[in-house]
Amino acid sequence: MIQTDIFPKNNYPFRLPPHLKNYQETYDNFNWQGANNEIVFFDNGKLNAAYNAVDRHLNSPRKDKIALIWQGATGNRQTFTFNQLAALSNQFAHLLKGKGVQKGDRVFIFLPRVPYLYASFLGILKIGSIAGLLFSAFQENALLDRLKDSGAKILITNSQLSQRMKNIRSQLPDLKEIIIIDSDNFDQELASQSGQLEIEKTDPSDYAFMLYTSGTTGKPKGVVHHHYAILSEHVTAKYVLDIHEEDIYWCTADPGWVTGIAYTILGSWSCGVTSVIYEGRFDPATWYQILADNHVSIWYTAPTAIRMLMGKEDVTPKQYDLSHLRHILSVGEPLNPEAIRWSVKQLGLPFHDNWWQTETGCICIANYPTMDIKIGSMGKPVPGIQAAIVDDQGQILPPEREGNIALKPGWPSMMKTIWQNEEKYQSYFVNDWYLTGDHGLIDNQGYFWFIGRADDVIKTSGERVGPFEVESALVEHPAVIEAGVIGKPDPVRGEIIKAFVVLEQEYLEKIKDSTYSDQLKQELSQYVKKHLAGHAYPREIEFIDKLPKTRSGKIMRRILKAKELGQPIGDTSTLEEY
Ligand code: ATP
Ligand code: MG
Repeated sequence: MIQTDIFPKNNYPFRLPPHLKNYQETYDNFNWQGANNEIVFFDNGKLNAAYNAVDRHLNSPRKDKIALIWQGATGNRQTFTFNQLAALSNQFAHLLKGKGVQKGDRVFIFLPRVPYLYASFLGILKIGSIAGLLFSAFQENALLDRLKDSGAKILITNSQLSQRMKNIRSQLPDLKEIIIIDSDNFDQELASQSGQLEIEKTDPSDYAFMLYTSGTTGKPKGVVHHHYAILSEHVTAKYVLDIHEEDIYWCTADPGWVTGIAYTILGSWSCGVTSVIYEGRFDPATWYQILADNHVSIWYTAPTAIRMLMGKEDVTPKQYDLSHLRHILSVGEPLNPEAIRWSVKQLGLPFHDNWWQTETGCICIANYPTMDIKIGSMGKPVPGIQAAIVDDQGQILPPEREGNIALKPGWPSMMKTIWQNEEKYQSYFVNDWYLTGDHGLIDNQGYFWFIGRADDVIKTSGERVGPFEVESALVEHPAVIEAGVIGKPDPVRGEIIKAFVVLEQEYLEKIKDSTYSDQLKQELSQYVKKHLAGHAYPREIEFIDKLPKTRSGKIMRRILKAKELGQPIGDTSTLEEY
C-alpha cells in the first residue's frame, strides 16, 4: 500500500549546495566510464582502493586534515590526520608482509571499533591481500565458520577476543598466525615498521575485501568485492551522503557489516571527510552527546537505533545542541514512516532512507536532499544503477505491481563472487538481472517501495502483505516501541498475521493484568485494521521483551517464525544475545 505523505524538498534546509543538484538530469547523463575521473588510477588502469580512500589526499591540503576522530568506549579520544592514517596503515602493511602475507591471502580482523581496525584494513588492501571483517561479538561457531570457509591465513585481534579462538584454532589449518594488538611488544613492533610503502597496484578486478552477509534470512554468504568498488562507493558517498569538505560525518555502523566498510572506510574517506568513530555500544544519551560534542553534520544510522531513540522519553534530541546536523540518513531495514515524522519534529530534518546489500557494495536506491521524500519509500536508483521490478523469470513488471527488486549487473561495486560457492553466486542472476531477494514495487513516479524479503512476504486470504507495513502501523501506536510480524500457517486463510510486540516501559506494568493485556491486544489489532487495511491486521499478538535481531540490528523474522512453529531455528551465528 502506497502512502502519499510527502516531505517536500523545498522544506529541506540546505546549508551547503548539494552535490546532486538535479536527480533526473544526473541520472540520465551518468555513466561509470565518465565517472572514472572521480578516483585515482595508477598507470595502465591499475588502482588501489585503500590508496583512493586515504593516500590520494596526501598530495593536497587534506594531508593534515583530521580523517578520524576516535572516541573510545570509556570516553578517551584520539585523532588521526590522513597523513597519520596513511603511515599507520603502511606500517601494518609492512608488518603483514614481514609475516609472509601475499597478494590474494585472506587476513581477517576481529576487533572492536578501535583505530587499529581501520588502519589494518587499509594496510591489508595496500598489499593486495583480501581483508575480512568479523563482528567483535561473534562467538566460536561464527568465527570457525567464517575463518574456515575463507581459509584465512592471519587473524588480527586482541587478547580478550583471542580467548574465543582457543577451542577452534586446531580446526583451522590455514590459519598461520594470530596477531594480538594489545600484546606487550605489539606497539613497538608496529612502530618499528616503515611508514612509507610501495602500494600494490592492483587490477580493478582484484579482490579487496570479503564480508559475510548479515544472516538475516539464513546462513551468511561470503561476498567478495574488488578494488574497483571504490568508484561506486565514492560516487554514492558524494551524491547520497552529500559529503562536503566542511562536514563532520558519523556512520554508526560496525565494519563487521558492509555499511561500516563502504561508508566509514572507503567511500567516505575517499571523499576526504572527517569521520567520527565511536567504539562503544548504543546508548541514547551518549549518542546525542557524540553528535553534539563533535559538531556532527552528516549522520548515517539504522532504523533499529532510531526506533530506540524514539522510544526514549527521558532522553531526547532537544536536550542537546544538535544544530550542526544538516543531513541524516538510514539504512539496513525498512525505515518506519513514524521515524521520519519524529526526526522532522525533533531535529528539523527528515531521515533519508536508502537501500542496498552486502552484495551490491554500494547504496543502490536512495532519497536525496534535492528530491521530495515520499515518506515510506526508499527513493530512486542512484545514478549509474538501473533498477526494476521483475517477476521470477526476470521479466520487467509495470508500475504498481509487486515483484522482485532487481538490478542490471555492471556497476563497479557489484560483488565479484561468493567465496567458494560459484553456484550460489550464479543463482542470483535471472535473465540478465541480478535478483536481490527483496520484494517491492515502483510507483507511477518512479519511487521504489520495499515490501519485504521474498521469504517474509505473508499470503493471507489471497492477499500479499509485507511484514514491514504492519510493523510500521503498529509502531505508530503510542504503546509500541517495535514489532516483528510473521505469517503463521492457517487452514482457512493460508496464513494469518502474527505480531510480536515490544511495549513502551509504562505499559509493562499494566499488562500484568490479563484483562488489560487482552484489551491492549484488541486495541492494537483494531488500530492496524483502521490505519492500514481490513485484511492486513494481526489476528494474533504476543508481547515480548525483545525482538531477535542480527548484530547489525535487523529483525530476524525467520527466528520468530521458527519458534512459533516449533521448527529448528537454523543459523544463529549473527544473532544478538537473546
Ligand atoms: P542475509 O543475506 O544473510 O539474509 P541480509 O540480507 O540482512 O542477510 P545485508 O546484506 O546486510 O544482509 O542486508 C541487506 C538487506 O537488508 C536487503 O536485502 C534488505 O532486505 C535489507 N535492507 C537494507 N536497507 C533497507 C532499506 N532501506 N529498506 C528495507 N530493507 C533494507
Ligand atoms: Mg541478503
